[in-house]
Amino acid sequence: MVTIIPGRTDTKRNPNRQRIKQVTVPIGEIVSFEPATGAELWRGKVGDVDECVARARRAWPAWAAQPHSTRIELIRRFANEVRKEADKLATMIARETGKPMWEARGEVESVVARVEISVRAYADRTSQRKHDNGLSGVASVRHKPHGVLAVLGPYNMPADLPCGHIVPALIAGNVVVFKPSEKAPASGELLARCFHRAGVSAAALQVLIGGPAHGQALVAHDGIDGVLFTGSSHAGIAINRKLAANPGKIVALEMGGNNPLVVWDTPKIADAAAIVVQSAFTGAGQRCTAARRLIVKSSLYDGLIEQVKRLADRIIVGAPFDDPSPFMGPVIDNQTADGLTESFVYLLSSGGRAIKHMVRLNEDLPFLSPAIIDVTKVAERPDIELFGPLVQVVRVDDFDEAIAEANATRFGLVAALVGGTPEHYNRFWANVRAGVINWNRPTINPSAAAPIGGVGLSGNHRPAAFYAADSCAYPVASIELNQPRLGIGIGLRDD
Ligand code: NAD
Repeated sequence: MVTIIPGRTDTKRNPNRQRIKQVTVPIGEIVSFEPATGAELWRGKVGDVDECVARARRAWPAWAAQPHSTRIELIRRFANEVRKEADKLATMIARETGKPMWEARGEVESVVARVEISVRAYADRTSQRKHDNGLSGVASVRHKPHGVLAVLGPYNMPADLPCGHIVPALIAGNVVVFKPSEKAPASGELLARCFHRAGVSAAALQVLIGGPAHGQALVAHDGIDGVLFTGSSHAGIAINRKLAANPGKIVALEMGGNNPLVVWDTPKIADAAAIVVQSAFTGAGQRCTAARRLIVKSSLYDGLIEQVKRLADRIIVGAPFDDPSPFMGPVIDNQTADGLTESFVYLLSSGGRAIKHMVRLNEDLPFLSPAIIDVTKVAERPDIELFGPLVQVVRVDDFDEAIAEANATRFGLVAALVGGTPEHYNRFWANVRAGVINWNRPTINPSAAAPIGGVGLSGNHRPAAFYAADSCAYPVASIELNQPRLGIGIGLRDD
């Protein structure tokens, strides 16, 4: 009987955190706390990796043998179950992650939308193709499922992002062992119940409750045919290393970003400021696609920064069900909030200039104000993902410098240009290294009807969303004739 969930119950660093009781979690259990209140929301036993995988292996042949149309029918029923449970699921997501209810509702709508997108994607990316070569036979390409896939999810969108892998995996004929984040297990469990109520068997989609150690054991398990991961680059790299000696296993890694947003000449400064604020602070900056680095042309700097600051000052930070609705909630836990405030102080002490300070709004709970810091004079800017409401500003003089600054990262998830001419955008698009590149739109909320993934430390060239289908089935090429037919015309002695 020991473990304390890090940060959420930590009273050591701040003895004034009395509102949150010290909670002792028995070994073998996971407890989920509400970030906005500190209250215990859910507790459950950790799963058994061997058992889950063995059960999945037994379930796979029957799931794969069903007609494709049956699997699609079951997945469409899943969408209906989510529609029926929309309020309950959104409420759970909001409570467990701390995000505002309007945002949690949007996440549930995305889950539903993923179903039809994935049905289309399966047909578009992995459909059957045939080419009649006359006497040489028919050349065909069809796709087969991999088998048992592990889906590992992050906490920030605990329903939508796992669904981005679970739904296409099941459609393609795989069975799934889904390990939700240890910070959002209740949302994961509720989501899985919708699959089960729709008729997907509890063996074909299993939930494995556990932390990183369970994730490690799952990805390394011999009975797993592949891993579809969404989370931090740190964990993604560990998974990649673990599976380096297993080239036969499919590994799709959707990881973090240190995303640049460049603002160039535009008369629409108010719109540019709104794009910056929405890109940087939606979800309290806990989006993989959030703008982390704002790169601004010097001549626009004062006007733009003034408007960005003014807008950020108006942001309501609050609990999910507050009225009026907050723009953003807390970050996921106290440890994360502590890490972010420490990072802000580090940037300040390294030569950064605070435009808007990061303030801890509540002693006991992880509510942070949105923060803006000019790091133009910071000599060595850390190229890490600061996963919270913090945007770093860099001032540049010419467009080449802006592009170089945008590319000064090992990550490559999203980049956006606001303002500029079509020629600027063409140069930006051609020279910036990222998997999603936008013009005059926020970095966040990419379309699930397109591939979403990154390069560098952001992904391994197996994007999710529309192209997730590619990671869920492998192509089989065949040449087929209904009777054997061959004559050898060269290199034989006379008969
Ligand atoms: P995380 O990496 O801490 O955890 C993600 C999942 O991986 C969890 O289920 C966790 O238990 C598991 N895990 C952790 N270490 C592991 C290991 N060594 N082996 C196997 N499994 C392991 O991520 P998080 O903090 O929950 O989520 C936030 C991160 O996710 C951010 O970096 C964000 O950018 C990223 N993210 C990326 C995308 C994308 O589409 N590219 C989308 C959302 C979030």
